Amino acid sequence: MPGLDSPVKFVRGVGPQVSEMLAAKGIQTAEDLLYHLPFRYEDRQNPRSLDELKPGEMASVIAEVRGAALLRTRRMPLFELTVGQGRHALKCIWFHATYLEGKFHAGQTVALYGKIEPSRSSSNFKMIQPQFEILPDSSDDAETRLLEVGRITPVYESLGGSRLASRWQRKVIFNLLEDIRGKVPECLPASMVARLDMADREASLREVHFPPEGTSLTQLQSWATPPHRRLIFEELFFLELGLELKRRKMRERAGIAFETSDKVREAIREVLPFHPTAAQKRTLGEIVTDMRAGSPMRRLLQGDVGSGKTIVALQAMLVAIENGYQAALMAPTEILATQHFLAARKLLERSSRKYRLVLLTGSLDEDRKRANRALINRGEAQLVIGTHALIEEKVEFDRLGLVVVDEQHRFGVLQRFKLMKKPNQPEPDVLVMTATPIPRTLALSLYGDLDVSVLDELPPGRTPIVTRRVPEERSADVWDFVRKQVAQKRQAYIVYPVIEGSSDDQPELDFSHDDRVLTDAATSGAPPISESHREMSGKTTRKGKTADLFPGISAQKTAPKSKGAELKSAVAMHEKLRTGPLAGLRVGLLHGRLDADDKEVIMRRFQRGEIDVLVATTVVEVGVDVPNATVMVVEHAERFGLAQLHQLRGRVGRGAAKSYCILITGQSVSEQAEERLNAMVRTQDGFELAELDLSMRGPGEFFGTRQAGLPDFRVANLVRDRALLELAKHEAERFATVKPGEGTEAERARVWARLREAWQRRYGLVEAG
Ligand code: ADP
Ligand code: MG
Repeated sequence: MPGLDSPVKFVRGVGPQVSEMLAAKGIQTAEDLLYHLPFRYEDRQNPRSLDELKPGEMASVIAEVRGAALLRTRRMPLFELTVGQGRHALKCIWFHATYLEGKFHAGQTVALYGKIEPSRSSSNFKMIQPQFEILPDSSDDAETRLLEVGRITPVYESLGGSRLASRWQRKVIFNLLEDIRGKVPECLPASMVARLDMADREASLREVHFPPEGTSLTQLQSWATPPHRRLIFEELFFLELGLELKRRKMRERAGIAFETSDKVREAIREVLPFHPTAAQKRTLGEIVTDMRAGSPMRRLLQGDVGSGKTIVALQAMLVAIENGYQAALMAPTEILATQHFLAARKLLERSSRKYRLVLLTGSLDEDRKRANRALINRGEAQLVIGTHALIEEKVEFDRLGLVVVDEQHRFGVLQRFKLMKKPNQPEPDVLVMTATPIPRTLALSLYGDLDVSVLDELPPGRTPIVTRRVPEERSADVWDFVRKQVAQKRQAYIVYPVIEGSSDDQPELDFSHDDRVLTDAATSGAPPISESHREMSGKTTRKGKTADLFPGISAQKTAPKSKGAELKSAVAMHEKLRTGPLAGLRVGLLHGRLDADDKEVIMRRFQRGEIDVLVATTVVEVGVDVPNATVMVVEHAERFGLAQLHQLRGRVGRGAAKSYCILITGQSVSEQAEERLNAMVRTQDGFELAELDLSMRGPGEFFGTRQAGLPDFRVANLVRDRALLELAKHEAERFATVKPGEGTEAERARVWARLREAWQRRYGLVEAG
């Protein structure tokens, strides 16, 4: 008899071979299998009647097979299935589905799930590429019938191979639930479960797989039943408890207690070029409070593009320097590091004190690097600005007091700044800055062990950026407009999705793939299967995975191939614009494949106004600050993600002059791209755009999981489960504060044991100092 932690191969019906397939999906124990929840449910007790279906809805239908045929059209083979209920019929079509031949026989009962489409040829509806299951009949055993029909039936994501489709999982999970009856230990303190009115663990597991009669289907589909909520809470509670523990450990460590004397204040006042905004004052206050405390600071400074984070960070660095420590600023690219360096030097020149600044990037020549490393090591360099080179070049600081990490999610190295301090020195303070507005729920869990400060106010004097969508055919008007702006001594960026050629060589382009599939279908004149496919996978599966209940039926694979979309590239368009529509202007080219020196030269020339128009890729996305630039043109805007478009737009509107963001769109724009572009035109609020982005893409893709250290949840979903996350955080804090403590000694010990194990296994990635 297996227990929850038995290897999954001992579960009845699994065995060594299947267990390997399960392991590939992260299912190693009996417990893992139980936490692999159905992603949707079908009501096979009260099935829908065909005449109540409405076009456009996703529906699940049970009907009888009337006929099936493989049609060989000129373009591709089509498999057509006709099913019926009484005098109503429904037609189902699969493309390229030769493998379906011979699968259906008249009289069989099938369950179908898909989008209801109107049919041109008759009054009946049709389904394109629905998911299907052939239901058992009297020749099947009683148990199979019991699990498959006449009840609310769970539908699972395939675990690999048709063998492990839904029907197999129902049976195995059902048997497992029988075998462990009464043997599932509660992992939360009984008093907490009671106080929160949560469902019991074992009953919850049972009911999410096999909901009792009368359970609301709507609640089931949205994972909002009490058993679902209980399991989601459980997962989030352990995440938050782990983060809470990390915060507590950090508070116990010895850091530096900086002082803020009048001398320090005076030093800051000397360099400030303008009055800080109220938000800048408040966030600096929060940072300085941390710095004065004896434990190391771990703080995230969030602020929309252009909100003025840099000056806040610089003031914090001056606090460290005036206390006799060194401060380091790490930027994600050489362009940014250089820009920060030049800006900091200019500001600090205003001071009567002589600060020693050092730049350290990978592309410096070896002699310079060696010399700069020595300055840093001897403590003579007070402010050090650089790229990852600061970590990679094994620079050892003499007295490192504060590390500022710019745009850390592009780094993934939050941990390694430790390498920079000498072993016998106290832990430096760390300030992470990000211009990607992060919805609060994500910030809570992603950066759960960081404290968060938010710069939610723009410096005064900014005029809103005018954002317009322009179809490709009208780009001539755009180039005229650019010429006019340049005639007024303004500068412009023109951004392209690719460097050269028409293939995507910038994997960071969030939506390059998404739109390509659509373009293919559109240009080949095939039915818009990818639309309905996307719709399906978007709405019915979690984590954006394709629900390949029936492997082989994947719209993406069957989408007809075409030559691929014609993409304009930065290199080609630079040439074309320079010699054509923008002839006579000084047009520069900047992209990631130039070597670092060239990049820097181009960037400086643009900064100094020696280049009028900069044709670029997304290398200009982050942080570039040229206040005289007033036009941002993005070609193939439909291929960029919301966060990218927002960042790109943030490159203009940095001065007092009126600025423009022009989004040029190509031939075919998907529904989702439409939504993104409309949002860009509608609002300039980064947090609003981030919320939308998050809800459109889901947390996994909002930031790459790996990059962000976002845990791979078994049941929780940060978009859907915001409220539960807040609750879990609150409960975790309460639990960790043992006064008088919740639960018995034994219960508490169990919670801690489970935390260690869960943290190790599931959240091993979340490491933030
Ligand atoms: P980001 O938050 O995107 O890093 P920056 O720090 O680059 O923003 O600031 C954007 C621009 O606003 C810079 O040119 C900066 O000098 C200017 N700025 C910052 N704070 C203020 C302020 N309080 N008043 C006026 N201008 C400011
Ligand atoms: Mg401190």
